[in-house]
Amino acid sequence: MGVDGQRVVLHADLDAFFAAAEVRRRPELAGRPLIVGGRPGGRGVVSSASYEARRYGIRSGMPVVQAERLCPQAVFLPVDFAYYRRLAAQFRAILGELSALVEHLSIDEACLELGPAARWPDEPLAVGQRLRRRVRVELGLSVTVGIATNRTVAKVAADLAKPDGLSVVLPGREAAFLAPLPVESLPGIGPKAARRLRELGVRTLGQLAQVPPYWLCMVFGRRAEEVHHLAQGIDPRPVVPEERAPKSVGHERTFHRDLADRSEVARALRELSEKTAREMRRQGLLGQVVSVKVRFDDFTTVGRQRRLLRPAFDGREIAEVALGLAFELLAEWRRPVRLLGVRMSGLTPLAVQLSLFDPKVLRTLRLMQALDRLAPRLGPEDGASRWLGAGSGYPVGPARLVLPALERRYDVTEDER
Ligand SMILES: [Mg+2]
Repeated sequence: MGVDGQRVVLHADLDAFFAAAEVRRRPELAGRPLIVGGRPGGRGVVSSASYEARRYGIRSGMPVVQAERLCPQAVFLPVDFAYYRRLAAQFRAILGELSALVEHLSIDEACLELGPAARWPDEPLAVGQRLRRRVRVELGLSVTVGIATNRTVAKVAADLAKPDGLSVVLPGREAAFLAPLPVESLPGIGPKAARRLRELGVRTLGQLAQVPPYWLCMVFGRRAEEVHHLAQGIDPRPVVPEERAPKSVGHERTFHRDLADRSEVARALRELSEKTAREMRRQGLLGQVVSVKVRFDDFTTVGRQRRLLRPAFDGREIAEVALGLAFELLAEWRRPVRLLGVRMSGLTPLAVQLSLFDPKVLRTLRLMQALDRLAPRLGPEDGASRWLGAGSGYPVGPARLVLPALERRYDVTEDER
């Protein structure tokens, strides 16, 4: 196929977004090492670091204490999500004018399908330049853009052009562009996989593209073939515009001191499961996949997930699975726990699923929704689960005592469907 008429995918990534947003409203901070996230001396982690701070080896996700040691003269600012979200919405609006096919990958990163270009690189280049100019003028921020014939190559091109850059990989040049890069440049190859590949003598994406795919099963399992293709710059995945429904709902918590006791872990997971379930019910969603995230005291972060037989709305049901998964991880790692997270994905609208429930389950759902509305008055951690007790189905907890009143108040009846 010729160079012209190939699909154009543009990857846009705001540079050091939170830090740049702070500089935007406080220009006197320009040029200084700036760290957003946590308080100095606190247990938080760095959310974003300006490029001046990155020169000291500071990275997002690093504990603030460590960042302080690396660069004591840095300016530390708290995270102001409301402000960043406002800017991100403006960024999205600009991207939305460029294409109807925009997939938002995070608050500051998106990929866009621009449709086939008649002339490479002039046409895609002009779009990228226009986008960068608009973001600079209208938002006062810099954005790095990578353009290629597919998402993976566009993303890698953007990563290499950061900060404040623009890079285009011509059609047909994908494999040659990737070949000299270290394997961890490819999205989806983390430090662990990269280490294993190095042990096997594979350092660059060019080398990765040369090895037989079956050989990669040792490192990537079922993903081996996909990774092999990606390393050659082949990536047919479409850009999928986001639906309005969230892809997942979840909560996580960092503890003031690390948890070593299984019962403490269990209690925290029950709370997180209940919060997650309440959030799903509030949004009218059911979830079928339970994911658990555990960060240990040495910052190793691991996760595991399990698919339920049927979608759930009940925090107790979620907690049961979450506990099982977390205890598997705890048994493997045997370390104190610093952070726990519970997340539900495989979400479907409650309305679509209601007819699948038997009346008893439906009744529990109605009661939980009633309790959810009361939750602010019941105290922050007192969710429906606590009130309905530990069993499933009919309430056995303290809610038993207030049920008659609740049922009258919210017109919950046995035959409501
Ligand atoms: Mg960014």
